[in-house]
Amino acid sequence: GYQKILEENRKLYNQLQDLKGNIRVYCRVRPSTDGQPSPVSNMDEGSITLVVPSKNGKEGKKTFSFNRVFGPSSTQGEVFSDTQPLIRSVLDGYNVCIFAYGQTGSGKTHTMTGPDNSTEETVGVNYRALRDLFHLSEQRKDTIHYDISVQMLEIYNEQNRSVGATALNDRSSRSHSCLTVHVQGRELVSGNSLRGCIHLVDLAGSERVDKSEVIGDRLKEAQHINKSLSALGDVIASLAQKQSHVPYRNSKLTQLLQDSLGGQAKTLMFVHVSPEPDALGETVSTLKFAERVSTIELGAARVNKDSAEVKELKEQIAGLKAASVRKD
Ligand code: ADP
Ligand code: MG
Repeated sequence: GYQKILEENRKLYNQLQDLKGNIRVYCRVRPSTDGQPSPVSNMDEGSITLVVPSKNGKEGKKTFSFNRVFGPSSTQGEVFSDTQPLIRSVLDGYNVCIFAYGQTGSGKTHTMTGPDNSTEETVGVNYRALRDLFHLSEQRKDTIHYDISVQMLEIYNEQNRSVGATALNDRSSRSHSCLTVHVQGRELVSGNSLRGCIHLVDLAGSERVDKSEVIGDRLKEAQHINKSLSALGDVIASLAQKQSHVPYRNSKLTQLLQDSLGGQAKTLMFVHVSPEPDALGETVSTLKFAERVSTIELGAARVNKDSAEVKELKEQIAGLKAASVRKD
């Protein structure tokens, strides 16, 4: 009945969002670990309400709305299935960026990678995305040939470095880790080609670090994290204001995400919330940031597709360039 209509509406809304290329925001609240009454007083499919102390000493309520809210009992499978169409669009030639935001301990790595010793049931978005992309490309092999390459990167203190597969299990909360999948496709009959790319990013913890409490390496880490997360905020803000200059170059993180964070790409932010009363301050600032992000309209996402003729021309140009380099 009613539930079904709501569900249909949400699907339609998300499809519209797909067309418009907005930044989608999904909020996920992890299960409580301390059993204390939570400031999260209500959740439904698309909103979360917090009880917050107000200035006059009384309690007030604040509701935040998102494309989707996943409560503590949501499963990894449910989270993935709402993300799958976005991930699959990479094989149609879109650039996609999915990032996990939230304070340390709020469940970012759980969503993206899964818990230690994950099972088929508890494994996170990254593994499910890879498996799904390989599976779907295999299914399409009679009409389109895909080349898929996968790369793991970790950004620690503004330095990029390539890391091995073992680092997929790295639980560091002070670096950003990024799984990137590049896709090239060629339609067998038409010869048309396409390119797509997806970044799956587990961001460093977003908590504000009290400068008086940390020194040395920890202070340096905190400053780098602040720099990259505020650069991310600046990029998002300037996209929202449709400024002609978007400051991608201000951090390694935004440089890395440049091609997948902007008008022509599809972006999804998983914003993570801890339900404990101790986390309330961070929870409020996380949700405020996320709500700002969710209001951004980027215009239609664009597919990276060349006709066989354009592809041939590009190859000729590349060939001419290579020939002229050889001559020099
Ligand atoms: P973060 O990466 O944001 O620092 P983690 O993903 O490491 O946080 O989560 C902190 C702890 O909470 C881990 O033990 C994790 O397994 C657990 N956890 C997080 N989210 C969930 C969830 N949705 N369901 C069950 N356990 C979770
Ligand atoms: Mg983590």
